[in-house]
Amino acid sequence: MENTAYSFDKIFDYAVPESVSQKIAPGCRVLVPFGRGNKKRQGIVWYIQNAKGGNLKELSKVLDADPVLTEEMLATAGFMKEHFFCTLYDAAKAMLPAGIHYNVSILYQAAEKATDFQTLSLTEEEERVLDYLIQARKPVKEEKILEVFGFSDDRVLKRLSEQELLKKSEDVFRKTGDASTKMAALNADAEFSQMKLTAKQKGVLELLQMAGNASVKEICYYTGVTSSVVDGLVKKGLVYYYEDEVFRTPKHSAVQIREELVLTQEQNKAYEELLDRYRIGKASVSLLYGITGSGKTSVFLKLIEKVLEERKGVIVMVPEISLTPQFLDTFCKRFGESVAVFHSGLSMGERLDEYKRVRKGIAKIAVGTRSAVFAPFDKIGLIIMDEEQENTYKSESTPRYHARDVAKFRISRHNGLLLLSSATPCVESYYYAEQGRYALSVLKNRYGGAVLPKVQIADMNAEAQYGNFSGFSEVLLENLRDNIENGKQSILLLNRRGYNTFVSCPHCQDAISCPNCSITMTYHSANNRLMCHYCGYSVPYTDECPSCHGKGLRLGGSGTQKAEQELEHIFPDARVLRMDTDATMKKYSYEKKLAAFANEEYNILIGTQMVAKGLDFPNVTLVGVLNADQMLYADDYRSYERTFSLLTQVVGRSGRGKEKGMAVIQTYTPENTIITLAAQQDYEKFYSGEIAIRRAMLYPPFADICMVGFVGNNQLLTVKAAETFLQELSLLARKEYSTLPLRILGPSSASVVKVSNKYRYKLIIKCRNSSGFREMLHRLLTEFSKKRDFLSITVYADMNTLSF
Ligand code: ADP
Ligand code: ZN
Repeated sequence: MENTAYSFDKIFDYAVPESVSQKIAPGCRVLVPFGRGNKKRQGIVWYIQNAKGGNLKELSKVLDADPVLTEEMLATAGFMKEHFFCTLYDAAKAMLPAGIHYNVSILYQAAEKATDFQTLSLTEEEERVLDYLIQARKPVKEEKILEVFGFSDDRVLKRLSEQELLKKSEDVFRKTGDASTKMAALNADAEFSQMKLTAKQKGVLELLQMAGNASVKEICYYTGVTSSVVDGLVKKGLVYYYEDEVFRTPKHSAVQIREELVLTQEQNKAYEELLDRYRIGKASVSLLYGITGSGKTSVFLKLIEKVLEERKGVIVMVPEISLTPQFLDTFCKRFGESVAVFHSGLSMGERLDEYKRVRKGIAKIAVGTRSAVFAPFDKIGLIIMDEEQENTYKSESTPRYHARDVAKFRISRHNGLLLLSSATPCVESYYYAEQGRYALSVLKNRYGGAVLPKVQIADMNAEAQYGNFSGFSEVLLENLRDNIENGKQSILLLNRRGYNTFVSCPHCQDAISCPNCSITMTYHSANNRLMCHYCGYSVPYTDECPSCHGKGLRLGGSGTQKAEQELEHIFPDARVLRMDTDATMKKYSYEKKLAAFANEEYNILIGTQMVAKGLDFPNVTLVGVLNADQMLYADDYRSYERTFSLLTQVVGRSGRGKEKGMAVIQTYTPENTIITLAAQQDYEKFYSGEIAIRRAMLYPPFADICMVGFVGNNQLLTVKAAETFLQELSLLARKEYSTLPLRILGPSSASVVKVSNKYRYKLIIKCRNSSGFREMLHRLLTEFSKKRDFLSITVYADMNTLSF
């Protein structure tokens, strides 16, 4: 049932009227009367039972001719409710494409007796509304009426309904519009020279005059307004919105490759092992651990061909699809129309189409990001998770699921194979493979005789001693110069976007921070503004301190924008391409930029971690990491794993072709073990050190870590909520769950305590993720949500969270 709180979430019983009993099945959506007022709500049929009597309400309408969820998917939703502490409807909603969702709306229509309303004593307002609805001759949505008359509430409509002049009804409508792809442009006949406009509105119009069109996101970035300012201009008729051109799904690529894929001996061995596992016909998990460039994709393709022969569905997940156009292209070239694509870059209509193609059995392979794990196949033979250690597989909003857990559950219902793949598997996965819970297949060599690059560590302390403060070590500059002269390409990683990473005031001695968040602001040269990377707040950059109004602000630290400028200064003839979320906001620009880089139109690609992953350019022989230290010192137990993985991956972009590559890692802590091991690209050694620490400190896989988060506007109350929860947890654990292993840390603030004016606190519970523990937590969350004192505080549980 939609809109039910977690604490009230359950399956509700309804009577099925005779007239629809033939049309209804589990997995269909229905409209039902709910609660005391019998307002209409949407629900999903979970099961149908033959039962007599009872005082059940009747359901009102069946919304789907065919079920939108299979019975296995309904079971998956049940699994998600229990494991991720969400409602059944939240889980079901995550499984369905956004374009399929309905909204319930209230409608008003003029009653018959309203036609001679002149004889009644109505206010002028009431007459106008009635007249409007009589003209309309059909039911009109409440929102629409309120908007037309500028009403802030439904008072007038209520009065008219009470006099039986209006008929009220409810119905469902498909949602439309997708904010993330919204584009704006100037109306050709807009005449605004005479109009009174605010400075913000003028700023937007100037930008649109210059650019012709822009996405709403871009407008907000460059002019510092919120999207409501653009809405205002649309209302004035000066600007219009449209949906951006649809994603060019590469599945339409004309050429389809039919020739057989020839695997190397090593690849073939891995393939045979995986095929054997698959053929057992029982649910199992395999880990394919293969170094960068070893050809893991080729093994996937061969295995998929086999699974398709049995007419079973295949799900292939990648961490971030817009960064792996080559990967997608490979699949589409080999499998053509049987590939369906799932990711957020598609329009809602397209997502709906892809969903239907899978549901109808036309598409057999679903390729996509995290949400592809829900692809609605009747039968699933194989699920592949490429780069299985990546954070993007974990959802950080409700339902807070990890795609790996969902994949395990689904594959167990289908008796298929789950294939996890990586050059740097997450420590838990490798541990399970060692223990024999997962099967392990290994690729030790790069394809085609390519070898791993040579890696050099550049000690930035020494550079500073020699007077080099440029942010580029001598050895990196030398190699960059060589590459430019020899027509070779280079990739540079700098994990900070913006120009300067902090701005400080010499008078009040403070770094300038965001008024809504406890975080410093970053200077962006592209729009000449100070920006908050958490909430998006921005102010124009002037030389003046926003708090003490003193002059002479100091800029420090460098981000990608500054590094790009410095490179252009050092190598005036080189062509530099920058890729970060600021430079790539325009849809499809990732693809275009990567294609241009592949065409060797640029010498150097510089960017944030998006340049580290999945790219396969044979002409790249140099990789530079500008500051490896930034990522090491985050405050969670996964920061070493993440740093090792990122460094290994980015180093792995070098020397994938015929020539041996090299990489330079710049650091202020050259003796750090993680950095030296990443330089040696020695995963096994990294793993054995890391697993020892995990065991000693009781971190996953030796314990599960559950975070309970508290979010509220009032800092003291938020802290108090966390403290109260802790007390009740301790009490309940002692009284009824004394056998559960538990260790509770906190309450403590989140690493950034204030974001968008909300305070965030957390409890960390080291536990065993058992049904007993989940039951206890479920009881606590349910009880807590009923406490009057804390109604304004949002509380949620996040099992094996990745964000602290
Ligand atoms: P990984 O994902 O393991 O880093 P890829 O799958 O991207 O590596 O393979 C690296 C390169 O080697 C790609 O360009 C790929 O086309 C090529 N390659 C790998 N295996 C084969 C094969 N069996 N036949 C032809 N090309 C291959
Ligand atoms: Zn902020």
